[in-house]
Order: sequence, then C-alpha cells, then structure tokens
Amino acid sequence: MLAMRKWAVRNAGLLERAYNALAAVLRAVRPFARAIGLERLERPLAAAERAVKGFLFDCKMCGRCDLSVTGMSCPMNCPKQVRNGPCGGVRADGTCEVNPRMRCVWVEGWHGSRKMAAGALSAVPNPPVEHNRAGRSSWLRVIAGSDDVASAGPAPSQRTAASVLERLLASGTFVVTAEFSPPDSADPADVHARLAPFAGCVDALNVTDGSGANCHMSSLGVSVLLMQAGCEPVMQISCRDRNRIAIQGDILGAAALGVRNLVCLTGDNVANGDHPGAKHVGDLDAVSLLATARTMRDEARFLSGRKLAAAPQLFLGAADNPFAPPLDARVARLTRKIAAGAQFVQTQYCFDVALLERYMARIRGAGLHEQVRILIGVGPIASAKTARWLRTKVPGVHIPDAIVARLESATDPREEGRRIAIELVQRIREIPGVAGIHLMAAKQEHLVPSIVAESGVLAGRSPLFGAQRSRAA
Ligand code: SF4
Repeated sequence: MLAMRKWAVRNAGLLERAYNALAAVLRAVRPFARAIGLERLERPLAAAERAVKGFLFDCKMCGRCDLSVTGMSCPMNCPKQVRNGPCGGVRADGTCEVNPRMRCVWVEGWHGSRKMAAGALSAVPNPPVEHNRAGRSSWLRVIAGSDDVASAGPAPSQRTAASVLERLLASGTFVVTAEFSPPDSADPADVHARLAPFAGCVDALNVTDGSGANCHMSSLGVSVLLMQAGCEPVMQISCRDRNRIAIQGDILGAAALGVRNLVCLTGDNVANGDHPGAKHVGDLDAVSLLATARTMRDEARFLSGRKLAAAPQLFLGAADNPFAPPLDARVARLTRKIAAGAQFVQTQYCFDVALLERYMARIRGAGLHEQVRILIGVGPIASAKTARWLRTKVPGVHIPDAIVARLESATDPREEGRRIAIELVQRIREIPGVAGIHLMAAKQEHLVPSIVAESGVLAGRSPLFGAQRSRAA
C-alpha cells in the first residue's frame, strides 16, 4: 500500500489530469443520473470508488475527497487525521511523528502538490470530515453538484480587541509570554505557587492543555485561577481529546468566564503521554478549530449553523514550527492558519537563529508578518543530555550540534543553558517581523526572571503581569 501511495504522489500531475477528465464526465452524465435517481447510484458508485481509490491512494472513503488539494496524498492516512497538515511534529527525516516507519502524508502531499496545477498546497483551509458521510461516494457528490467548494471564510471583522495582550501587540510593543504548566492537583494553592516566578516579567501566560499528552489540571480551570490572580491567560485548547461538540461548548464556557486569548492546537501524540491507551479524537485539527472559533466569534453561530445568543470575544492564536520539514511548506501552512483566523502564533523552541532568519525572510516576503503577530519560542536547556533527549524524543524540536557541544563543554551546563537562552532572546528580538518572545522553561521556571531581566527584552517597560498584581507573589 505504501508503495502505491508513493507512486500516486510521484504521479500527482498525471492523476490530477485523470481526475479532471473523470469529473468532466461525471458532470456530463448529471441529467441521466438524475433521471435514474441519485440514491440508486450510491452503492455501485461507492463500490467502484472504493476499489479504484483504495488501490491508488489507500483511500478510507471518508465521504469528502480532498485529494485534488492534498497533493494526491490521502489525509485519512495521517494518524492524527490532520486535514490541514503537516503538523509540527514531523521528524527531521520527514517521517511521521506518530509512525516513524511512514513518511508524513503531508510531506508527501507537499511534494505531490508541486507536480499539480496549483504548484503548492492550497492556502484555503480544508473543512473537517463529516463522519456521517463515511463510506459514501464522493463521485456521486460531483454528479449531484453538491461537492463543497472550500472557502477562505469571511473577511476579518472590524472588532474591538477584548484582550489586553491583543491591544499590546497591536500597539507594536514587543511582548513576552511564557508557558505555564498546570499542576497534578485539585488545589488552587498549587497553581498560585507556580505563578510566583512569572510575576513582574511576562505579559501573559499560556496554559497548556494536556501537553505532551499527559493529564494535568484543565487549561480552563487554570486560566480562571490565573485571572483571579491578576494574570491574563492564553488558554490552549487541543483537538486531541474532544470532538467539535465539546470544544465549542468549552469555547463558550471559557469566554463566559473571561478568557480572551485562545491558542488552537492539534495536540501531541497520545502514545507519548501517560495514558498511551487513550483515543486520539482528532475530530477537528488546529486549522479547522481556528475556523470554528472564528465562525463562533464573527458570525455568532456554531459550526452547525445554529445561532449563538452572544458570541465569544477572542484573540485567536496558533502554534507554528519554522524548523520542521518540509521547511518550504511552512509558510504555506501559516498562510492557511491565517486564512482560518489565526491572529498570532507562538513557535516551537528556536535554537537555530540562522534558520529562523531565513524563515522570517520568507514570511516578510509574503507579507504575513503584517497579518499575524509572531512570537518565537525560547527556553533554557539544563544539560547536553537534556538537549539530546529533546531532539530525539520530542518531535519537531531542532537543536543544532553547536548548542549541544556548548552545553557539553560547559563547567556549569545549567548556567550555560540560561546564557544561551538570553543570547537567543537578544538576537531574535532584532529580527524584523518578530512581535515577541514566548518563554518555555518547563521545570526551570525560576530562571524566567533572570532571562527576562538580563536579555533586556522588556526594554525597561513594566509587563502586564506586574509583581504588584500577583496575589501569589
Ligand atoms: S507527522 Fe503529523 S501531519 Fe504528518 S502524518 Fe504524522 S501526525 Fe499526520
């Protein structure tokens, strides 16, 4: 099957022409098909489609074929069911985060798309799968004229920023956010205790949602506790653990409780977490979740079309990984996230400024830095051993050999890791188009104040989460 899938991608241009010819025939027979009755054609057409596309693409008959915009690589073969890939976990050799024996279907799709008429993956977000259509014929939808035409969604609305972070970024201020790890506890005091290092040095805190696929206090619960402590939260929400019904309910609940910043994520691989037997839900992916949240905010309706009495006021964010292959597809993927509603992005750890500079040059070339605020991830590494572990065990993390060697030869590796983080912040701050720094200092949160102070990243201003505002400090 894998060999046939590779052949299909290598011959995507040929298959595109074949599909266009087939679609023309299907449209031409529309009057006859209607005369016979479309319902009567469903079973034979689905059987033929299953046989042909199953052989060529390892097709899973999702009922909504997107092969013509996915480089002839079927997204249903992605273990996370990502319909708008590639995700940020692609390994350095282009294999899948979840299944290292397989090339990422979206890396394949990227190469396939280069052979097709458009020459690149579309910037228009692919909608989520409608599971009630599984097994049904997509060809019949072409005959019926009901195949969905994907749209980039409504034009950005003229809205008043409800988030203080959004207003700060809009003012052109270089911002500092940091990652906050929820505790394994039901006691609010454990959240407050973890807040102390951040007081007086960050503008907002990202609350992770089961990061690394490990179970912790919910991002919604922690976000509310942070607000009570005077800190603006950036609530992360992952598609891994909930379907579209639960996610939309959580978005409404979070907004009702005062959350104004939302980062939409696909979610880490469950096999790497503390519940490896859990199910990856993946009903939506990061892009379709962004589009869903934007629809709720700007059109005051659910994905189903049902009206909302009050729309959630949200500043919408996404994750980005400028360092995961295929590097030349990353700008296209960011374009798709912006089209889906992303207003800011926070990136994976940056340890390679030269690579980041090349990425930012492409971002500026496409004018994306004017459409989305880009915050670059930085964090201290405690030792060379940790660096090696991160780059081999955490998909999507790229650490150059020079950084590992520097940690290896240091007499105090922890201090060297802190110095490296400070230098990275200072160099990244100078790159045009970068709007801020996102500090990720898991298990080393106590280093955040000195990294912020010694890098001079705040340029003398007081951050939004001031020391005097924290009840925990
Ligand atoms: S790397 Fe990510 S996007 Fe690619 S196939 Fe694996 S899970 Fe899917």
